[in-house]
Amino acid sequence: MVTSSDVPPPARILIIEDERALAQVLGSYLVKAGYDVHYATEGPASVAAARDLDPEVILLDLGLPGLDGLEVCRQVRTFSDCYILMLTARDDETDRIIGLGVGADDYIGKPFSPREVVARVNAVLRRPRPSKTSGSGEPAEERDFGDVRIDPVAREVWVRGRKVSLTRTEFDILDVLSRQPKAALTRRQIIDQVWNAEWVGDDHVVNVHVGNLRRKLGDDPNEPVYLLTIRGIGYRMGLPGSH
Ligand code: CA
Repeated sequence: MVTSSDVPPPARILIIEDERALAQVLGSYLVKAGYDVHYATEGPASVAAARDLDPEVILLDLGLPGLDGLEVCRQVRTFSDCYILMLTARDDETDRIIGLGVGADDYIGKPFSPREVVARVNAVLRRPRPSKTSGSGEPAEERDFGDVRIDPVAREVWVRGRKVSLTRTEFDILDVLSRQPKAALTRRQIIDQVWNAEWVGDDHVVNVHVGNLRRKLGDDPNEPVYLLTIRGIGYRMGLPGSH
């Protein structure tokens, strides 16, 4: 009854976990903390749920029937830049996930305390993710890189006249790199500008977004021309046709 238009709607959280009892316990803590909690129990349906629900946070169990958590993470990352917290059963699994770089933002080992999960979710949602594109005072003209055109005002990207659909994070990374096309930026510098400096997750999450960006721009992952890997540093915008 006391819904005021000043109060933002509660953040949506999707729990993807096949152990229903565990999911329910976690969910009850999150509901008590004021979140809008949804559940999925197996891989393929959970990707669809993530697409439909567009949650702010996903808690994702690694061991799922149908499609494992790594693949769910990989698929969700192609269309969403929500915060993904992986629930892992063992420490060595966490190492493996980080090594594979599927795009999870953080990891928490089982058994975990639901309070700890709630604390992490709270921390993540408190952190603003301002886009540096607006309000920077810089001229925001369209930028052309070979067949790729970037419109920073409309936040649109075109490849050979065809508009491509990027997540906010993908666009922000492309924006940061293309704004200073001669600069090689470290993953940490990219994170500082796209996520912001308080972000504490794994730097290699950048690789996953760059990988998805390359695919969407039609860049060859083995011989990219737009998003160049600068060994030992990070990434730089390529200038096709001018080198
Ligand atoms: Ca499981």
